[in-house]
Amino acid sequence: MTIKNFINGKFENPIHKHWIDNYCPANGEVYGKTPNSSKEDVEKAYQSAQSAFRLWSQTTLDERSRILIKISELLEANIQRFAEAESKDNGKPVSLAAAVDIPRAASNFRFFGNAITQFASESHESVGQNAINYTLRQPLGVVGCISPWNLPLYLFTWKIAPAIAAGNCVVAKPSEVTPMTAYLLGEICNKAGLPKGVLNIVHGMGTTTGQAIIEHPSIKAISFTGGTATGAHIARIAAPMFKKLSLELGGKNPNIIFADCDYDEMLKTTVRSSFANQGQICLCGSRIFVEASIYDKFKIDFVAKVKELKLGHPSEASTDIGAIVSKQHLEKVLTYIEIAKQENGKVLCGGQKVTIEGFENGYYLQPTIIEVDTDECSVNQEEIFGPVVTIMPFKNEDDVLEMANKVKYGLSATLWTDNLKRSMTMSNELQVGIVWVNTWMLRDLRTPFGGVKASGVGREGGFEALRFFTEAKNVCIKY
Ligand code: NDP
Repeated sequence: MTIKNFINGKFENPIHKHWIDNYCPANGEVYGKTPNSSKEDVEKAYQSAQSAFRLWSQTTLDERSRILIKISELLEANIQRFAEAESKDNGKPVSLAAAVDIPRAASNFRFFGNAITQFASESHESVGQNAINYTLRQPLGVVGCISPWNLPLYLFTWKIAPAIAAGNCVVAKPSEVTPMTAYLLGEICNKAGLPKGVLNIVHGMGTTTGQAIIEHPSIKAISFTGGTATGAHIARIAAPMFKKLSLELGGKNPNIIFADCDYDEMLKTTVRSSFANQGQICLCGSRIFVEASIYDKFKIDFVAKVKELKLGHPSEASTDIGAIVSKQHLEKVLTYIEIAKQENGKVLCGGQKVTIEGFENGYYLQPTIIEVDTDECSVNQEEIFGPVVTIMPFKNEDDVLEMANKVKYGLSATLWTDNLKRSMTMSNELQVGIVWVNTWMLRDLRTPFGGVKASGVGREGGFEALRFFTEAKNVCIKY
């Protein structure tokens, strides 16, 4: 399977014919190749986007909306095909991709197809001065969208949909580790009648293709989701060129469990918030803090439930936990498990690489629970981004709040309590961008999404995304 770039509505080989092997994590085999696009490919994509911009930015909102909704419908009609491709590329269970990733990618297009028809700007009457101000919200021009491997199409489209809805043209790069569904998206965009050049997809390594996008002097904004170190690098390059930046970065999210919560609901959801997508979701609650009075009970019940999870080939319907995305990532996660042991962590379950018959070279790792005796150990402070969680008890609200906030990240937090006052005061105090109380990953696409501290700058979602992808211009008319 040879993946190609999607430029000006056409599928093309990279100019310099540089390719990267594409691996299937479920069996460790190379099953295709992906372009490692150069600066020249990115320039070609930029030129195509720039040529399409004038017409697209003047296309009526109804027409843009119609096309985005058509893309959404075509994705929905192809859920199984896309889910299988996503799973093969990423290692996640096909069932998960079919239930979450691909439907959400379709929702992203539908949501922003609708949202753009409701997006309004302000006007300000300068009372006593016979003047009226109105604000134009104009598209930026050509923008860059760069996304990671954990939720490939889901996060890729979360950026592209608002960018094109707002009238921009896009040069986009998916992670080179998971390029397949982005490649398939090009075909759907053509079928939906998206004009040529509005969306251009260039594949390749972050350090070559990604770098060329962020360095491009005429790309006006970068919307990036990925690791914190990459985000900092992008900011260093892009900020002196005054590009607009939206950076959704890493997380080390606390899952705080009080004794007064709905225990069964909490337990069920905590298994999911710990290990969904092999723990490779920036929102996973990887630091579990449990009120001391229920700690021992929780520990026994949680370990028992996690041991019931079925680890297996991603295409089997009964699989709960599929493969880790890559060999390098598997090794990184295993290194953290070793570090945890050296730092006095006690592995309560999991911790081992697993061999699955018939797929011996696949990247499988047991879901792992580590009991830690301090919140300051490395596994409690650093993002592992795999099926590994820590657990430890806490005494009271102040105690847990201090630990929850004592990390460099600030993406999300989950609170389990039936006490309304506590849920509201703690939500005020938690240094994060998103708090879930008595639930996890319940998403409403209108809400602002993003983190504080090293988890990023800017907000995606709803009108926040449309504001990011537009420039406000005030017009003042004296009458
Ligand atoms: P990376 O930061 O390694 O990569 C993200 C994207 O950036 C990839 O497409 C990558 O390319 C590209 N990239 C890498 N280097 C550069 C560069 N110099 N210039 C431009 N682009 C570059 O993250 P991962 O793909 O490993 O994703 C995991 C990370 O993403 C985790 O830290 C996770 O927390 C974070 N994340 C954050 C979310 C949020 O909303 N806050 C949501 C999901 C994930 P390539 O991989 O092809 O080399």
